[in-house]
Amino acid sequence: MSETVKYFLDEKRIPKFWYNLVADLPTPPPPVLHPGTHQPVGPADLEALFPMSLILQEVSKEREIEIPEPVRTIYRQWRPSPLFRARRLEKALDTPARIYYKYEGVSPAGSHKPNTAVPQAFFNKEAGIKKIATETGAGQWGSSLAFAGALFGIDVQVFMVRVSYDQKPYRRALMETYGARCVASPSNETQAGRDILAKRPNHPGSLGIAISEAVEVAAQRKDTNYALGSVLNHVLLHQTVVGLEAMEQMTMADDSPDILVGCTGGGSNFGGLVFPFLGAQLRGGKKVRVIAVEPAACPSLTRGKFAYDFGDTAHLTPLTKMHTLGSTFTPPGFHSGGLRYHGMAPLVSHVQDLGLIEAVAYHQTTCFAAGVQFARAEGILPAPEANHAIRAAIDEALKCKVEGVSRAILFNLCGHGHFDMQAYMDYTAGKLVDQKLDEGELAMALAGLPSVKA
Ligand SMILES: *Cc1c(COP(=O)(O)O)cnc(C)c1O
Repeated sequence: MSETVKYFLDEKRIPKFWYNLVADLPTPPPPVLHPGTHQPVGPADLEALFPMSLILQEVSKEREIEIPEPVRTIYRQWRPSPLFRARRLEKALDTPARIYYKYEGVSPAGSHKPNTAVPQAFFNKEAGIKKIATETGAGQWGSSLAFAGALFGIDVQVFMVRVSYDQKPYRRALMETYGARCVASPSNETQAGRDILAKRPNHPGSLGIAISEAVEVAAQRKDTNYALGSVLNHVLLHQTVVGLEAMEQMTMADDSPDILVGCTGGGSNFGGLVFPFLGAQLRGGKKVRVIAVEPAACPSLTRGKFAYDFGDTAHLTPLTKMHTLGSTFTPPGFHSGGLRYHGMAPLVSHVQDLGLIEAVAYHQTTCFAAGVQFARAEGILPAPEANHAIRAAIDEALKCKVEGVSRAILFNLCGHGHFDMQAYMDYTAGKLVDQKLDEGELAMALAGLPSVKA
């Protein structure tokens, strides 16, 4: 038992630059279009919502973008995050596979999300912004931005999807502890919210609706901006600290991944881990198999269309080409709140279209079974979202056993599940059900995609 299980980098090794995959792609991702004119948007079109520094990152083709020193200083609280070799899990599975995981649950909010919340708050502060409006599903993003807002003295208003607001009071309490104001969405505070409540007073809400509300608030005031916790290029860019550190740690382990795995809601923890490895591959390095794992009840990569769509329900956002289930699609209730979004990051969608990654979808009970097996072997209780990545990593390890080959598998353990104990209690009590998505609703949502000339 003296074999190394933990690869810990010195804090001097926190990356000094984020990595931009666009610089190494054979073709650039399709342009973002104005919702009215269907013409490509320019940086000025986004200025009502974001500081120019983030807009320039959003459209950048530079390979490396410098991480400001004040951001690196804050990263130091939990970065570099540890990378573990899951030797006890390997043993439990009796597999020849070498299983590694990068653990992002060590951040103050308990997930990878502060990796982008902190720089987003920093660049907004630099631009003189006083308040940021945002949305949250299960509350991971809301609590991460609330944490970052508290560090920089920025007011944060979070529109939290109604069902989660009612069912997950502890994440809400965390946001309020950090000083943010949390409002159940749909709310009476915006036109988008009032329109929906007029039709259905007890609407359970959705991420698409909460985005509409936050964008509406941000668009109205000069001192108020909007922030998104996933999907956008600059968010995935900030998350590349995960993969850049992991590359160094795999070198310390004297190994290199054959298979990379991440769960995908909007694509940010997945992109953060895999883009630096994909970039190395595109520059002539080792070819890696990359697997995106999504919930079968909200399967944008495996069942969605690669088409232009809105990011929100009220259609206030620009149009982006992405794998989408349609902006009106409401997934059935399941426990991975962070994976309940109708679209996928345009960059992740694009690399799938280029054939650089594959995608699989799993139902939730098999993912919880994997999460429980992981917790019993490794001691860390994973976020329900992360259980999707663990399921796929275990399945690949079991394939290694059947084939009698040893492969190195690295997955992103993107957060802990300490605020998700109700889900684990339901699982243990046998109360979790695998909800099928409504095929009729999916067909309708896809039929309603905006028509955009190619
Ligand atoms: C938000 C969240 C996700 C989903 O978002 P991505 O952008 O796909 O990473 C997954 N896991 C955790 C723990 C989250 O908080």
